[in-house]
Amino acid sequence: MKSILVTGCNRGLGLGIVKHLVNDTNPPQNVIATCRIIEKAPELREIAEKNRNVHILTLDVKNTDTFDRFAKDVESIVGDDGLNVLFNNAGYSPKSTRINMVKAEQLAETFAINTIGPIMLTKALLPLLYRAAAKNVNAPVSCSKAAVINMSSFLGSVELNTDGGLYPYRCSKAAINMATKSLSIDLKSQGVLVTCIHPGWVKTDMGGNNAPLSVDTSCSGIVKVIKELNEKHNGGFVQWDGKELPW
Ligand code: NDP
Repeated sequence: MKSILVTGCNRGLGLGIVKHLVNDTNPPQNVIATCRIIEKAPELREIAEKNRNVHILTLDVKNTDTFDRFAKDVESIVGDDGLNVLFNNAGYSPKSTRINMVKAEQLAETFAINTIGPIMLTKALLPLLYRAAAKNVNAPVSCSKAAVINMSSFLGSVELNTDGGLYPYRCSKAAINMATKSLSIDLKSQGVLVTCIHPGWVKTDMGGNNAPLSVDTSCSGIVKVIKELNEKHNGGFVQWDGKELPW
């Protein structure tokens, strides 16, 4: 892939994905890494200083009214080649969300970040994704052509839900899974692949210290998986090691 845009790159999995992309044997020409507040992204800034293919843009995925302006900034980086991959990674999970504790504001906030933001950002960047697909019209469906990857979670799987609770997070991720499916149908004729990925349970601020996977292991798997995605993954749900998950 020539270009990839990843949201939420100041810490956690987003930062890990950027590190793996720049250290890849065949790194993208442009890695567009977003964060909310650039001053709070020292590690990402250090990476961008050392790697000229890394561009930092600020983006709060809740601020959907900034997306058209943001798309113009992305266009000024990728130009006529368009954008090969949009990776909607930024996410949020509130605490204390059993049914007797859950609050309407938590549901709304979590949906804004995990569901509405990714759908609206995809919409804003569609012209650039279509441009990349058209540039590579004879290439097979893949991240080298054009793709949207949505970071989901096994907690968004209806079939795997045996513990209940987590209303805001589970519902917002189940919703992004559904959006992934619809996008995979709607964008197919333009050659854009759409898939969601579960990163595993990973030691980040969100995953906590008890998580079995390191950021490094998860992100190394994610980068390998996205490079191998093909037509059969369109509208699918895979995890960091390539295993398919049930909806
Ligand atoms: P972290 O909590 O470590 O990082 C979350 C990232 O999302 C940060 O960069 C944060 O930025 C960003 N973010 C939050 N809100 C917004 C917003 N409104 N606009 C832009 N960026 C925002 O989480 P992880 O790295 O663990 O999670 C990354 C993704 O992986 C999420 O989608 C999560 O749901 C998913 N996931 C993680 C799992 C895990 O075990 N860790 C398991 C399954 C899925 P800031 O610092 O500014 O808040």
